[in-house]
Order: sequence, then C-alpha cells, then structure tokens
Amino acid sequence: MLTDLPSIHQDIVEQLDYFISTVSTDLRLLTLNPFGRKLCGIAADHDLMQQPLYVHNFHDKENYQFLLNIVFPHVQKHSYWQGSLCFFDQQHNCIPSHLKVLAHRDLAGTIISYTGIAHTQPSLDTKTLDELSKQLFADAIEGIMVTDTQARILKVNPAFTSITGYEAAEVIGKTPAILRSAHHGADFYRQMWQTIEENGYWQGEIWNRKKDLTVYQQWLKISRVLNSDGALSHYLAVFQDLSVIRSKDQQIHQLVNFDRLTRLGNRELLVSRFPQTLAQCRQHKSKLLVCWIDGGQLSDVNQQFGLTCGDQLIQLQAERLQQLIGPEDTLVRIYADDYILLHQTKAGFSQTNKLIGHLLEVLKQPARLGDEVLLPTPHIGVACYPEDGEQEEDLLHAAELAMFAAKEKGSPGLNFYNRQVGADYHRRALIRQKLQAALQTNELQLQLYFQPKVTLSNGSLAGAEALIRWHEPELGTISPADFIPIAEQSSLIIELDRWVVTQLCKQLLCWQQKQLSLPVISFNISARHLVEPDFTSWLLGCLQAYQIPPSALEMEITETALIDNEANAISKLQLLKDNGMRIALDDFGTGYSSLCYLKNMPLDTVKIDRSVVSDLTTNAKALCIIKSIQLLASELQLGLTVEGIENQQQHQILVELGCQQAQGYWYAKPMPAKQMALQLTGSL
Ligand code: C2E
Ligand code: MG
Ligand code: MG
Repeated sequence: MLTDLPSIHQDIVEQLDYFISTVSTDLRLLTLNPFGRKLCGIAADHDLMQQPLYVHNFHDKENYQFLLNIVFPHVQKHSYWQGSLCFFDQQHNCIPSHLKVLAHRDLAGTIISYTGIAHTQPSLDTKTLDELSKQLFADAIEGIMVTDTQARILKVNPAFTSITGYEAAEVIGKTPAILRSAHHGADFYRQMWQTIEENGYWQGEIWNRKKDLTVYQQWLKISRVLNSDGALSHYLAVFQDLSVIRSKDQQIHQLVNFDRLTRLGNRELLVSRFPQTLAQCRQHKSKLLVCWIDGGQLSDVNQQFGLTCGDQLIQLQAERLQQLIGPEDTLVRIYADDYILLHQTKAGFSQTNKLIGHLLEVLKQPARLGDEVLLPTPHIGVACYPEDGEQEEDLLHAAELAMFAAKEKGSPGLNFYNRQVGADYHRRALIRQKLQAALQTNELQLQLYFQPKVTLSNGSLAGAEALIRWHEPELGTISPADFIPIAEQSSLIIELDRWVVTQLCKQLLCWQQKQLSLPVISFNISARHLVEPDFTSWLLGCLQAYQIPPSALEMEITETALIDNEANAISKLQLLKDNGMRIALDDFGTGYSSLCYLKNMPLDTVKIDRSVVSDLTTNAKALCIIKSIQLLASELQLGLTVEGIENQQQHQILVELGCQQAQGYWYAKPMPAKQMALQLTGSL
C-alpha cells in the first residue's frame, strides 16, 4: 500500500530528465530539481534559501517581459501556460525549451506559487540546417546568386529567374556582367569591388538589365563567403527589384492621399500640403486663397435618385473644378461634395474674384445624371492668407464660415470671409444652441402669442394667427424673423413647430372649456417640417389627443414648402383638407408667387405679404398687384387675407377694394393668450 505519496513524488521529480522548478509569487526559485540545476549550471549544494535566485536571473530582458506580460497573467487566468521559450544558464548560454507553467492555489483560490516544467528542445543538427538552407534558397522572394571566387555564376534561385528573366542554365558559368546596364561607369564597379574586398560586403542601389532589356533598379548586397580556413570560397549576391517595391509604395501613397471616387486629393493630402504651401507663401510673400467649395444638393440627389447618382454628381463636379485649377494648386475633396482649393497668388482682388467666379460658374452648369437634369446650387467661401488668418486651422475655419454665410443667402453664391461673417456665425450658433435648450428644458422662455385677423367689411374678429415668442434671459427677446430661419436650417424647426402645435391644442382646449366662441385659429408650419414622412399622422394624432377638430384650425405654409416636392405636398395638404383643416398660402407676393400653386394646391386662403402692402398708399403698382391678386383669388374661389396693415389709409384702401380679411398692427399686435381671451369674449 502506498503510504507516503509526497515523498514518492519527490523521488520521481529528482529522477526526471525534465527541468522542474517551483517559484514563489515574487518569482524567487523555491525548488529546482537536479536536472534543472545541471541544465542551468547551478551547483547541487546551492542553498536556494540562503542564496536566492530569481526567475529573471535565467532570462534576457525580452523573455522576462514576455513572462511578466503574457505568461503569468495567462496562468493567473487559466491556471497554466505552455509554449516555447529560451532561457539562459548561469554562463549565459541559450537553452531552447518547451515550458509548461502551473499555478498552485490555497483554499481561498489565491495563487501561492508556480511550477515550471521544461524539456529542452534539441538544437538544429547540420542535416536539418542543410535542409532549411535549401528550402530558404528555393523559397526566398529575393533573387540569390552564388559565384565562385572569379565571380562566375554557380547557382541561382527561382526568384533570380522571375526577377531577371534568365533561366539558371542561361547564366551559369557566366559573370554578373551580363546583368549590367550602361547606367554605371567603370569607377562605380571598381569601388564596389574594393568595398567588398575591404569590408567583406557591399550593399546599395544599382541599375541592372533584365533579359528583355528593361533596365530596373535593384537593392543589392554582395558578400564574401569564407571557408573554415578563412579563405575566400564564394561570393553571395542577394537582391530585390526596387521598381516593384516603389510601385507598391506609389500605390500606397495613392490610396492614402487620394480620393478613389474623384482621383482628387483627400484630407490627408491637404494636411500634408497645407503647411508647405503656407511656408512657400511666407517665403515668396504671396497670398493664399483658401476656398471652401460646397457642390450643393448632394443629399437631395442621394435621397431622390440613390447613392450611385450622388457619386456621379461628385465625379462631375470634380472634373469641372479640375479644368480650372493650375499645377501649383491643391484641390482636395474633404467630405461628401465639399472641396478645398489652395491657390497661391500675387494677383489683385479682381483677378482672384474672377477665378472664384469661374469655379462657381462651372459648378452651376446643369448636371445631367442619367435621365435627370439638375440645376446645382453651389456655394463657395473664401478666406485669404494673411488677412484672415496665419494658421491652417484658422484659414479653413474662416473659409467654412464664409461658405456657410454664402449658403444662408440661398441661391448659388460666393462669399469672402470678414469679421462680420465670423460674428454672425457665432451668434447663429449661440441662438441654435439656446433655442434647443429652451425647447427641451426651459419651455418657460417660449410663449404663444395670438394676432387677431379682422373682417374688413364690419371690423369683426375673423380669426387669429398663433405666433411664437422667445425671451432668452441673456440675449433678451429674439424675433422669430431671426430665430425661425436658423431653426429651419436643421431639424430644430420640427421640434419648434411641434411645440407650437401642442401648445396651441392645449390653449384651444382651455378656451373651449371656458366656453369661449372661437374663430378659426391659424398656425405656421415650415417647409422642412411638411416634407417629414410622418407629418400628417403626427399633426392629426396631436389634434385627436386634445380633441381639437381639424376644422378649428388653418395651417399657413409658404411657397417654399411646395417647390421641392410638389406632388408630395399636394397629397399631404389634401389629406388635411379632407379632414376639415383649412390651408392658407402665406407670404404671397414675395418669392416666386407662382400662379400654378394657386391652381394646383388644395388651398382655402391666400395671405398677401406685408411687403406688398407697405407702400400701398404711395405706390400705384402695389395697388394694382393687390387688385390683381384679389381678382385671381375670387375667380379661384379662395379667401384673401392682407397682412401688415399699419395705418388707417391702408385699411381704407383695402375696404374700398372690397378685400375680405386683414391682419396688422393697425387692428392689433400679437398678444399673449390671456389678452387674446379678452378679445374672444367680444371686446375687440
Ligand atoms: P408670418 O407667418 O408672415 O407672420 C406674420 C408676421 O408679421 C409676424 O411676425 C407678425 O408679428 C408680423 N406682423 C403682423 N402685422 C404686422 C404689421 O402690421 N406690421 C409689421 N411690421 N409686422 C406685422 P413674427 O411674429 O415676427 O413672425 C415672423 C415670421 O416668423 C412669421 O411670418 C412666420 O413665418 C414665422 N413664425 C412665427 N411664428 C412661427 C411659428 O410658430 N412657427 C413657424 N414655423 N413659423 C413662425
Ligand atoms: Mg403666417
Ligand atoms: Mg405672412
């Protein structure tokens, strides 16, 4: 019966031809069996407790880091690790080994020590080395050529053949002179051989010739091979075809710095060229125009016709721009249909203006994309070094701001940066950010006002328009004419419109409960909101939630809502009209004032803009316009409201013309809901 297992195990460990060592968690050797001691050159009587040895005593820096960073963390997680590792004996001889490391844990599972078990791996014998060399010779991607001491070729490898085009049989016995091009003179070769004789080797770039006579550049290393007596036995030449490597470098350069779609430079190229270009400008005291070019309409094209069409538009824009730029210019596509042009110049303003004007002109040309013909709306912002900035980022920022300012004006255009552009941009950004916060967290800043509309024939209250008001503690009261266009540049306008409609519903519900008799109340919806796919379902859902019948409301939209997607707008307006809501065309007399819209749209009312009315008393043409619109509206059986009546004379003229309804400060300014309630109780 086995009684003393630990001592039996100890005997086995002592006898095994394996390196077995247990180490503490601070990596001090606790035990090392006789085989291990022998292997590492440690005396049999070396007392590990008195003269401690550590794991690091047996490893070079790299291996020790490998143990610390990989092996022990792995053991801590999985309780073992195994793999190949070299360690060093006390004389610093390398011992290749296969090592297995185990962890020992206490009852609580904490690691208390590690045991390493290693068997040494035999070093490569001459036969194996021979085999490996042959394999290496056959598989190397470098060309290899072995010559005798007279430089007569003895052996070449397959890569030699694939690089030079010469089969082994064609070159063996000849000298490498058959590979020479006429590129280098005799001096070059003399020096090369002198270096080989003096240093044992030469390496460098050399032009050689292939069998098909093409001349190419090689990286070549020629070494002297000595026999065991130290005498020259062979020369060994190893070479690479640099043209292949360089064309790969070229491809990588192309991939990294150029845009695949347009072949223009990309952001990386801009980043690397911009500092150089600025340095040249400083040196030559020339100006640098930094143009931020926005091709225009890419997102619409992507949405309506698909990404392939969008790509075609970008390619077309890139081609058009490229025609106008010179070899010294840098033109890159940095994002979507946004391009940056760097143009160095010493020319005056009128000439640079001409160049940018041309850029705008080519981009404005109609773009044929498949069956569609598009009229692009490009915008260009220009910043100039040194006036608008000395650093790359400042100039790019200024050019971008100038482009935004050009964009805000709507139609295609260009804009040169100036301080006002920067200040405007920052104010708009501030308004956008504060309005967002007001809509989300601080609704108390926002209020709904109401402006009465009157029936001109008898002065009675005909309706009211709900208008938003915003008082921001730091910026003060901001006019909707300022913040609505800013909100319209993003989806903020959708949040704003929805806030207004919800507030309006709440207000109407409150007035209904007070049993006030309510005229039709109108509200404004932005073009950007109308195109939202869920617009009608959201609006009708909101009214239903507050039990407001759609017939209690009139929705005011401007022509811009109809321009981009007429069919879609018509169907939405028709659906609302079918539900009983009235539809008014706002601000008529500004913009296009297309008569087609009057004909095609399911409208109830036309609102003449106050800009038409403002000089009604002094300008006979204004009177004519109002008369004509009035006639048109009556023929098309549409209601007519004239906005912006500010005085008795204007009012009188409209009464005499027989216009239906009017709205303006002359009757009442927009007022808070409480005051409007008083009007509704009949005191207007
Ligand atoms: P709008 O829809 O044409 O609204 C009429 C604007 O004319 C209002 O300006 C009103 O205060 C102003 N107004 C009325 N009578 C007179 C007058 O006799 N003289 C003068 N000088 N102005 C008069 P407000 O409230 O500043 O709104 C400007 C524009 O902002 C509105 O033009 C509308 O397009 C937009 N807006 C206002 N509230 C909202 C809203 O809740 N939602 C949306 N989407 N847009 C709104
Ligand atoms: Mg309106
Ligand atoms: Mg209006």
